[in-house]
Amino acid sequence: MKTTPYYRFVLVILLITSFLTSAHAFQGDKDKFVVVLDAGHGGDDSGNTGNGYKESNIALKIVLQIGKALEKNKDIKVIYTRKKDVFVTLRGRAKIANDADADLFVSVHCNAHNSSANGTETFVLGLHANQRNFEIAKKENEVIFLEADYEQHYEGFDPNSPESLIGLTIIQEVYLDESIRLARQIEDNFKSQQKRKSRGVKQAGFWVLHNTYMPSVLVETGFLTYKKEGSYLNSKNGQSKMSKSITDAILAYKKQLDQNVGENIYQDTSTKTAEVEPYIVDNVVFKVQIASSSKELAPKSYNFKGLSDISRIKIGNTYKYFYGYTSDYNKIKQFQIEARAKGYKDCFVVAYKDGIKVDVSEALKSGSN
Ligand SMILES: [Zn+2]
Repeated sequence: MKTTPYYRFVLVILLITSFLTSAHAFQGDKDKFVVVLDAGHGGDDSGNTGNGYKESNIALKIVLQIGKALEKNKDIKVIYTRKKDVFVTLRGRAKIANDADADLFVSVHCNAHNSSANGTETFVLGLHANQRNFEIAKKENEVIFLEADYEQHYEGFDPNSPESLIGLTIIQEVYLDESIRLARQIEDNFKSQQKRKSRGVKQAGFWVLHNTYMPSVLVETGFLTYKKEGSYLNSKNGQSKMSKSITDAILAYKKQLDQNVGENIYQDTSTKTAEVEPYIVDNVVFKVQIASSSKELAPKSYNFKGLSDISRIKIGNTYKYFYGYTSDYNKIKQFQIEARAKGYKDCFVVAYKDGIKVDVSEALKSGSN
């Protein structure tokens, strides 16, 4: 079967539906809000050791404190991917979260770079907007090489290849909006509560984020390679402050969810659009196909549930209607989320390269970013 974006989208919905249905049978704590806390690395994998500080240790200490604080809330259940200094595979981490049918997945790490880079950044899954984001995801993904049989378990995924990440984003896209909301809250708290330098919310292809079926973020709490930041993160004080900011963000996220029951949680998509970094593919235009009909409608917002920026083409006797027009893949994904929120549940992204329709995956491969 030729996997057009439409079929992929349907496939994803089927996957999610069957996952939700099968998970339903063994829901015990389902009235609780389940948070999976993932301390990066552990055991033989110490993560980065900038300035002699150990990422796996720091991540674990921060995670244990977040967990302890969250557990004080009766309606929250906390699950850890590790509570000790042990090795857990990326597969194992995603499986723990999926088996628990969790509501949130929060992975905690520390950054490293051979420059004086410093500051916090929180990632959601997406295509890397630049080489630096790719390098960070690559470093966190490389742990799969520690598994002897990784080729078999990771189905040809290669952390060294940017192209390997294309197509990885599809399932997690359903949760992108919520993941960004949590990521933004975490970064805001680092800045306002702890006066940390925030590098913002970013996107890159982290394997572990791709394989969780819930809103998921990966927090880089700072650079161990930057002396001052490393020593802060290695200190009791620094760890408890970072934990507090992440805990508060999770609680704020949950509170907003509780308040939004039955409402349209996508209402402020426009403000989020600015937050995602651009992923420009040269000579390619992306659009969201929202409808196809034999009826000729004026491409006006009143005909399309208030969406503006509508275009129309005629193929044979059929009119196709599109929302948005951009070379920025990350932006068109945001447009797609908006269109879905407006009720165009089956809408999908299409790509035109030099005016000719091409598969989205082809278009992405053709752009060297
Ligand atoms: Zn890490």
